[in-house]
Amino acid sequence: MELERHIRTIPDFPRPGILFRDITPLLGEPAAFRAALDGLTERAQAAGPGAVVGIESRGFLFGAPIADRLGLPFVPIRKEGKLPAARLTVEYALEYGESRLDIHQDALAPGTAAFIVDDVLATGGTALAAAKLVELLGARVAGMGFLIELEGLGGRERLGAYRVDALIRFR
Ligand code: IMP
Repeated sequence: MELERHIRTIPDFPRPGILFRDITPLLGEPAAFRAALDGLTERAQAAGPGAVVGIESRGFLFGAPIADRLGLPFVPIRKEGKLPAARLTVEYALEYGESRLDIHQDALAPGTAAFIVDDVLATGGTALAAAKLVELLGARVAGMGFLIELEGLGGRERLGAYRVDALIRFR
């Protein structure tokens, strides 16, 4: 299945000069969504994880079904201030300004191998922050899976310490 066909490209969103890759056509086409989940589940399984970690919010759309298919716990990493129980926070730089991500302190037992999932890898800052949270809990990153990798933004290089898989690459 040619998954690229189901990604829509929107120029100048959310700001002028940005080429936004919109995954909603893929989500709206059951065969394409299933093929994407099949591909990512295969990558996750190959990494041998004990848990699947999804990054809010589009990482949940893929991470949760992958966890279900593999019979593994699903762990959400959320934008700051949304998780209710005791949590750890990391701050990371965005193109303009900064952002924070949270994880529940009891989300992963020490030593657990976590597979991190998100929809798009761009500069890698978000995924790197997620990896830091996993490691702060004493767990380790078994690998990372993305539907889309935007090449030329340095993401894969920045995540050089980790096993990184993507189903679609755009230049
Ligand atoms: P990074 O931190 O620069 O790698 O950006 C990745 C984060 O931004 C992910 O959580 C994505 O959901 C989001 N993102 C960046 N670019 C796009 C895009 O073109 N389409 C959809 N999401 C994007």
